[in-house]
Amino acid sequence: MPQESPKQRIVKVAVPCPLYKTFDYSLPPAKNQPIVAGMRVRVPFGRQKLIGIIIEEVFTSDVPANKLKPVISVLDKDNLLSADILKLLLWAARYYVHPLGEVMQTALPVYLRNSDDATPVLTEYWRVKKQRLSVAEKQTHDETLASLKRAPKQLQLYQILHNTEDGLDAEALNSLTENWRAPARVLQEKQLVETYVKPALLQQDNCNSAAPALNDEQTSAINAIETHQHQHAVHVVNGITGSGKTEVYLALCQSALSDDKQILIMVPEIGLTPQLTERFLDRLNTSVVILHSAMNDRQRYAAWHAAANGQARLIIGTRSSIFTPMPEIGLIIIDEEHDGSYKQQDGFRYNARDLAILRAKNKGIPVVLGSATPSLETLNNINEQRYHVHYLKQRANRKPLPKIELVNLCSQKLHEGLAETLLQKIRQHLDQQGQVLLFINRRGFAPLLMCHDCGWTTNCLRCDAHMTFHKRRNQLHCHHCGSQRPAPDHCDECGSSEVVAIGVGTERIEHFLQERFSDTSVSRIDRDTTRNKGSLQDKLEKAHSGESGILVGTQMLAKGHDFPNITLVCVLDTDQALFSADFRASEHLAQLITQVSGRAGRAEKPGEVLIQTHHPDHPLLQTLLHHGYQAFAQTALHERQAAGLPPARHLVLLRCESVEVNAAQNFLQQAVEKARQVSLDDIDLFGPIPAPMERRAGRYRYQVMLQSKQRKALHRFISWWAPQLQQLVSARKVRWSIDVDPYDTF
Ligand code: ADP
Ligand code: ZN
Ligand code: ZN
Repeated sequence: MPQESPKQRIVKVAVPCPLYKTFDYSLPPAKNQPIVAGMRVRVPFGRQKLIGIIIEEVFTSDVPANKLKPVISVLDKDNLLSADILKLLLWAARYYVHPLGEVMQTALPVYLRNSDDATPVLTEYWRVKKQRLSVAEKQTHDETLASLKRAPKQLQLYQILHNTEDGLDAEALNSLTENWRAPARVLQEKQLVETYVKPALLQQDNCNSAAPALNDEQTSAINAIETHQHQHAVHVVNGITGSGKTEVYLALCQSALSDDKQILIMVPEIGLTPQLTERFLDRLNTSVVILHSAMNDRQRYAAWHAAANGQARLIIGTRSSIFTPMPEIGLIIIDEEHDGSYKQQDGFRYNARDLAILRAKNKGIPVVLGSATPSLETLNNINEQRYHVHYLKQRANRKPLPKIELVNLCSQKLHEGLAETLLQKIRQHLDQQGQVLLFINRRGFAPLLMCHDCGWTTNCLRCDAHMTFHKRRNQLHCHHCGSQRPAPDHCDECGSSEVVAIGVGTERIEHFLQERFSDTSVSRIDRDTTRNKGSLQDKLEKAHSGESGILVGTQMLAKGHDFPNITLVCVLDTDQALFSADFRASEHLAQLITQVSGRAGRAEKPGEVLIQTHHPDHPLLQTLLHHGYQAFAQTALHERQAAGLPPARHLVLLRCESVEVNAAQNFLQQAVEKARQVSLDDIDLFGPIPAPMERRAGRYRYQVMLQSKQRKALHRFISWWAPQLQQLVSARKVRWSIDVDPYDTF
């Protein structure tokens, strides 16, 4: 064959920028190396030099050859994003109508977004030296410690480290204290502190926990799932709390591991469920990595790397772990599949549960969704026989489910929002050595302060919302935009000093109960009391040991904890959700009541659940109480059908916000006009309408909603529409985004 002159090599690159396209670059002959999609390249982009991902190599381009800019450098010898992950991301960019470059950026560990070098480097941590000391050594050690009194900087650093479980890295230390390196070295010389490297791979040396003998329901779920072990299917393990779902996961993992497969387990929030990770480590003799957002960039990349090269066999992670390359993936498990945290609520707004199902389908492997309270989407898929369902209807310990009762608040005397009858019940349970859990989904002392003389309220200056009063800090916080200011002792309007706290939050309940039940220790578990590292762990331990008799908490407490001694669970605020503008509010309420109820009476003593409401006859509560979550969900599905809401119909939201009220409305108006230029068969378009919270963080917010029964028609339309919107001049003055399958409409 005649030798052809070497063709110009061109690569299509996804560059992190908000445009719906890829960019072509030439590959200089000097960089004569094999190119694989998924490699990173550094490329000139405007005045910047950005890291992009090669999508494919081509030999022609619409850009004239002399205009093509050359790649600056190819950063990787091999593809960092595997072919199956690339395929998933390309699909996701199309489905969620999001710029590919940003989609790729989301999927890459932060470390790889910035660093040319892809070699994982572990961070050094400082911690108090762990050592066994002889009596004599102990004495010297104590003397050295005592001498720190004369070195305040060292003492301070020592105390900071002493208060942590695993020590701190430089980044964390920098945020806590200045000029710590010199004293740290001295402490190191004094043998008081040491540095170490946290391994990415976790593995228990001897797994000493043995599986219990599984019951019939568990066995048949496992058998049914394993019959289709090597083909794609979506399995739903619908098991009540305490029915032994985790044991089913463990058994499935064991077979997948013995089959030399890698496993991905997705959980809502790792920080909230340390017990789960422990259970997997305790039982499975394999190498595990954890992936969650609280890890530092290097640590997280090291874990990602171990999954991508096959060293880690079990990956436990939150939402974004769905994008981790795993060459031998054979099973995906999504725990608490109904949880809202699987949906990313800004930027690239994907749903990790839905992408997990697609990933499993592409790979031809099973995916298991577990929940006591499956989402209506999942139940609809079961109804339509797209998913296989396996029920676990009994608690594994055969204890009966707790009795649920409504407490009618109408014309009852209330103490800080708590009914007298409820307080009597709490006394009863405490007297019988039971533990009590009270659940209210509002942090702070009170949702607002109000002037008793003129009615003035503490409003946020930047949002259409009240500012929450936090008593201990004597501050007002806006839970929507984060603004804070000192709590006023006088009314801003009339100067009156009669400023009173209206409504209740966790802090207020905690105060009141601690006074009322002074013989018991009350523990509050919410984002405010668990901000410090280790404090959640500490509070959970005290809850377990029974040291805290009463637990007051937000939905943090509803998730996956197993407190054996809890005999009474109280849900304090249901009425808000019964009449909310959010179309998922009633689903969330039913899930919450069912989940927190599962916390009662798990061990020896029988449990009781009390739900406070002004509307005891509300059909939702009646159905839930008398017929259970399944019956509630079927009713709710019918309602969604009638209202044309998901899952009956598909929803897309075009959101827009701007500091100028007209700018946001103009943009949406033009967007609607654009839309009307084409035929919108099968699609209903509503808007622009104000968002339920019209102003947030100083921005005015409006939206346009699209509804359709035909997903294809809807997608065909929005993939045409989105690039058009980008061209609009009015788009430059606003922030806009498209949300496909929105989680809420706020
Ligand atoms: P879920 O994940 O459904 O809430 P778990 O798997 O955590 O349930 O099980 C609840 C409790 O019951 C755990 O303490 C677990 O060890 C125990 N358990 C699970 N299955 C069995 C079984 N077959 N026999 C005895 N105990 C079991
Ligand atoms: Zn006033
Ligand atoms: Zn605000």
